[in-house]
Amino acid sequence: MKKTKIIATVWPVTQSKEQLEKMYHSWVNIVRFNFSHATFDGARPIADTIKELNKEWKTQLSLLLDTKWPEIRTGIVEKKIELIAWNNVKIVVDDAKRWEDDIFCDYEYLLEDIKVWETIIIDSGLCNVRVKETHNDFLIWEVLNTCIIGSKRHINLPGVKLKLPGITSKDKEDVLFAIENDYDFIAMSFVRNKENIQELRDILKEYSATHIKIISKIENQEAIENLEEIIQHSDWVMVARWDLWIEVPIEKLPFYQKEIAKLCLKYGKFFIIATHLLETMIENPFPTRAEVSDIYNSVMASADCTMLSGETTTGKYPIESIQMMAKVIIETEKWVQNIHNEFSNNGLNTRDIEKKSLIKHAISIAEELDAKAIIILTKTGLLARLAAAFRPNIDVYAFTKTTKSLNFMNILYWIRPKLLESWNDDYMNNVEWAIEKLKKENNFMAWDKVIAVSDIQKHGKEFPIIEIIEVE
Ligand code: PEP
Repeated sequence: MKKTKIIATVWPVTQSKEQLEKMYHSWVNIVRFNFSHATFDGARPIADTIKELNKEWKTQLSLLLDTKWPEIRTGIVEKKIELIAWNNVKIVVDDAKRWEDDIFCDYEYLLEDIKVWETIIIDSGLCNVRVKETHNDFLIWEVLNTCIIGSKRHINLPGVKLKLPGITSKDKEDVLFAIENDYDFIAMSFVRNKENIQELRDILKEYSATHIKIISKIENQEAIENLEEIIQHSDWVMVARWDLWIEVPIEKLPFYQKEIAKLCLKYGKFFIIATHLLETMIENPFPTRAEVSDIYNSVMASADCTMLSGETTTGKYPIESIQMMAKVIIETEKWVQNIHNEFSNNGLNTRDIEKKSLIKHAISIAEELDAKAIIILTKTGLLARLAAAFRPNIDVYAFTKTTKSLNFMNILYWIRPKLLESWNDDYMNNVEWAIEKLKKENNFMAWDKVIAVSDIQKHGKEFPIIEIIEVE
């Protein structure tokens, strides 16, 4: 059974009911909609199909909406502009002042924010230029490599503290769409500081949607500078390697990935490793050896999830890519020996800290007694979140009473979430029902030892308990 979770991006090559079911049976846990490209009309029917499949118990998939964020782009050109290495080119921020071979940049603060010698990256690295001269209403760039620029190409300004909003009006519309359509997670693109995350939290609060978890995408230099505060204020973090690679020197990428993982483990936060894990499978039915190693290393680094993008949106082998990723994960997990991760109490209240202590001891009892599994009963998913943060080496089944908590737990490291239809707040029978359910699914046999952790409700109060149970 696979324990590290898979996020697969959908649309356009993946969208039918059959494909979604197949994706689930090939081990996908979370379906991502990338709103840099997706539209409401494209996303709505797919999300509806997933919810329908979930309701019929044919799948158990969570929904993730990835925002676009403001992008900086070149202007519209009638004919493509060729830039020759070491030539100079003029750049303007007022399109009306542009001559034929000048380049327009739609970032209005460019002239005041950029300095001589700074590098600018156009079209995701296809074209690199360096600022040679700054003038009152234009810049002179020196072209570093010969390239051709078409209309509306991406511009990255690595190292520049951009005067751009955390959430644009398009992002806000997308967030409202996520709320209306019962999404479980929002991935926030180009997070730069804790204030950006707070802005999104405030919107979720205003629309009574605080159950939606925020995934901060680390994808530029400023986020790297503010990494610790971003991780502390996020629910999850994504190592968004595509844009991060454009914004920081590529040779630093593995180091940053490791740093992000280290800090996430320190704060008991979760992280997703994204992009290029199986890039060659967009065109080929098999991956490179390096890609297989990349998945192996992600699992060994304790990532909660690995993510597929182009492989499942435009690729020729979407299902095969998922199956390949799952196959490598399952093989790798045989060799994982986690050292229990002590994480900070930052952001936890007194009650949460009590629960944390309870779950920590449940894990150590389970391992000492060589138990078959841990069973958690949790209303909000908090106990499961804390268990996952400790990085257990044992199966953890987390039972809950709402699909919202179920979907939230889908993303958690090594946690197997399950709905307990017969959940009853007043009785102690929940654990028995949970064991019955797992027995029926052939997860347990008679004489197996399991450790159960729950919050019994007695006279309207919670009584947290750990039980050692021998399955009958
Ligand atoms: C990335 O940059 O790696 C990423 C996942 O974000 P996007 O798909 O929006 O480029």
